[in-house]
This record gives sequence, structure tokens and C-alpha cells, in this order.
Amino acid sequence: MKDRHGTPFCDGGLLRETAEKSIRWLEALPFRRVGPWASAEELRKSLGGSLNEEGMNPSEVLSFFSQEAEPGLTGSPGPRYFGFVMGGALPASLAADWLSSAWDQNAVLAVSSPAASAAEDIVSEWVLDLLGLPPESSVGFVTGCQMANFTCLAAARHEVLRRSGWDVEKDGLQGAPRVTVIAGEEAHATLLVALRMLGLGTGNVISVPVDGQGRMVPEKAEEALKTASGPVILCLQAGNVNTGSFDPCAEIIPAAREKGAWVHVDGAFGLWGRVLPSLDHHTRGIELADSWATDAHKWLNVPYDSGIAIVRNGAAHRASMALNAPYYIAGEGEVRDPSQWVPESSRRARAFPLYCGLKSLGRKGVLEMVEQNCRQARLMASLLSDDPMVTILNDVVLNQVLVRFSCPGSDSDAFTRMVTAAVQEEGTCWAGGSVWKGMAAMRISVSNWATSDDDITRSADAIRSVLGKAAKR
Ligand SMILES: *Cc1c(COP(=O)(O)O)cnc(C)c1O
Repeated sequence: MKDRHGTPFCDGGLLRETAEKSIRWLEALPFRRVGPWASAEELRKSLGGSLNEEGMNPSEVLSFFSQEAEPGLTGSPGPRYFGFVMGGALPASLAADWLSSAWDQNAVLAVSSPAASAAEDIVSEWVLDLLGLPPESSVGFVTGCQMANFTCLAAARHEVLRRSGWDVEKDGLQGAPRVTVIAGEEAHATLLVALRMLGLGTGNVISVPVDGQGRMVPEKAEEALKTASGPVILCLQAGNVNTGSFDPCAEIIPAAREKGAWVHVDGAFGLWGRVLPSLDHHTRGIELADSWATDAHKWLNVPYDSGIAIVRNGAAHRASMALNAPYYIAGEGEVRDPSQWVPESSRRARAFPLYCGLKSLGRKGVLEMVEQNCRQARLMASLLSDDPMVTILNDVVLNQVLVRFSCPGSDSDAFTRMVTAAVQEEGTCWAGGSVWKGMAAMRISVSNWATSDDDITRSADAIRSVLGKAAKR
């Protein structure tokens, strides 16, 4: 079995060369400039042109592609990338991801890959246990938290309408009882996308005011619940993208349940805060919700694409996603068909990297990883705030630090944006810009297993040195 260039079915040479390329990239990552060198436009030029008429030898293709693409790569898996909330890849989960590609399993049905089915079942149990969520919950492995929000909210839509005597899977939303959706003012943009894709719209979401840290105000949530009638979905958040704060679930959820509302928690990265007893004060009550969306490719340091949708009511979850019969309810002891819990049909066996990543960490390792990043976020905040030109805008309760720079005689918004751009340009570390309560800020997210305290110190020094130079301009 050979391709048109005479390349065998398994080209060991090509795969080994590619492994070497990957290793070189990862080994250089801690030392290279964190930002990219080339823009997307430049890459379109160097990689583009019309598709060659004749094929090219795979090894030449890979050499060309890796060499030309590299200037346009960001050091986001590296230890000093603090942009957005990214995370890197644990060695075991990265290696398992390679293996998943080589194995090329279709995790659609148990019969198409018993290993994928089993891995999903096992990882489900581990994740529910780690996060302290109801063990009877069903779990779907999706591409990211946006799709986890979508999956959970599809189950919510099914259930609240079913209780009103409406079959949304069969009859759609036209003519359905009106669903009231309540969310915090600080709900993540992807939650709104999920609502939009579900036909619930974003214009009618009742927006609940938040406090200075972005947490929903419990009294305001109760007011919103009181005025709502008919089917209600309440969306809470664990881990605000700017501040890392948690909506007060323990205070809000009991009132929502009394109302018969479905409570969903978007916990893309913050849900992992559940593993730390020291965060109980913030994460209490999250387990009372009906569904939870989280990511594995952020704080759990599994490669993309990896999100997790968790639903307490397995029947509602199944009914909203089922590939065949929407009213089919999973029987006792039934073998897991992975596609019954997600919006996709054919799909990657994305539980393999999760399985191997979690097993390599162990329970203790997950805890230590989360704890380390939280401690490093506090360290970063304290090193930066030694500078009188720095204000830390948030209570650093998790892994997020919001920084504002000011300099006598300059506008602080413009100055903060200028310093953020200069930090990115300097290249020791990378942090993104954000806006908090109308103020420009730089957001530092510590989410990588490989970040050391020395990386934090070096980055804080670099930021302060950039700041010092900016102030002199
Ligand atoms: C990142 C994030 C999401 C979206 O996750 P993706 O993996 O990018 O789809 C949703 N909610 C919150 C709070 C997030 O931080």
C-alpha cells in the first residue's frame, strides 16, 4: 500500500521527523519570544498561492509547512503566555493526542470504537468525582466550553419545556411556551452564542446586576426569579474571565430551584476551583445546579479541542442530543454511544488525552496544578503592585490578575493600552488587554502547568521594566 509518491501506508520516517520537529518546538518554547513574528497576512503570502496541480512528497510538504508556519505561531502552550485563559498541554495528554490521531478512531458509537466509549465513561466518573458533582450526571465530550454551554442549555430547554407540556425536539420553538432566560451582566459571550444558536435569542435575556468583582448580586437574582413566569433557565458563572470571581451559587440556587428553574453553571476554567478546599467559600453550592459546562483545554492543560458538558438529568441530556429517537432514554447498563451526548455525530476520541492527562496527574496532581497557578497569580499581583504605577483591579481569588497602569500626566486608559502593547512587543511574556467596568486593563491569566515561580518573577520584572520605560516617554 503506497501513495502516489511511493510513500508507504505507515511512513515511519515522516512520523519520526515530525516528532523531532514537535520536540524542537516544545524545547525552544520557554526561550523564544512569546508572541508571533509574522502576521496572518504574511502567512497567507508565504503559505498561499493556488493549489499545486501535481502532488508533493509528504516529507517535503511537512518541511515546507512547518518552516513557513512557525513565524505565525504564538508561544501559547509555553510557561509565560498569560493571554486569555489558555493553558498548555500536559506531556501525557499531548502524547495521547498524537496517539489519538494515529489511531484515528471515530467516537460516534461504541461499535466504531469500544476504547473511545470506555474512555469517555471512565473520564466522566473521574471528572464528576474531582469536581464534586452528582455522580448520576451524564457527561458529553465536546469541542470547548461554548459547545458545552450549548449542550447543557439544549438539555435545559428540553426539560423546562417538557415540564410545560411541550416537545421542543419535535415541534421546535414556534408556538412554544416562552422560556425566560436569566443571566448575570457578566455572562461570558459564548453563553450568549449558545442561547442564540438554541433559538432562545439574546435580546430577551434578563440581565442581573453584578458587584465590583463581577459576581451576580443574590438579591437582584431573586428579584428576577420572582418576576419570571413560565419555564425559566438561570445561568450562573464559576470563574469570571476578568476577575476569576464566582457567582454566589449557594445563595442563589436554592431560590431558583424553588421556582422550578433549571440552573446552569458556566465554569470554563473556574469549575476546576472546586478541587481546592481553600476555595470552598467561593465554590460552595455549585453542586446544586442542574448542568455545568467546563473546558479541559484551558486549566486542565489538555490539547484543543476539549470541552465537557455535564447534566444532572441524563434523560433530558439524552433527549436533546440523541441521534435517533429524541424520547429514547438510556437503559440500565447500556453501552455508551458517545454521540448520544453531544451535538456532533462523527468525532475525535477526545477522551484519550483527557484519560492520560488525568492519570498522569492523579487527584493530587490536579489539585497541585490548580493551587500552584492560584498562588502564582497572587505572586504576580504582589510583585507588580510594588510599583506605584500599578493598580490591581480585582481580588485575586483564582488565577486571574487584572492590572491597570497609570502615570502622572497621562490618561490611564491610553497608558494601560500602550503598556500592554509594549509588554507583548518586548516578548518575555504575553498578556492581553481587557476592559473592566469601563476601564482599560491588562489581564494576566496563569493557567499553565509548566509555569514556574521563576517565570512569574521574570515576567513581573519584564512588565515593570517596560512600564518604567513607558513612563519616561
Ligand atoms: C473560555 C470561556 C468560555 C468558552 O470556552 P471555549 O472553550 O473557548 O469554547 C466560556 N465561558 C467562560 C467563562 C470562558 O472563560
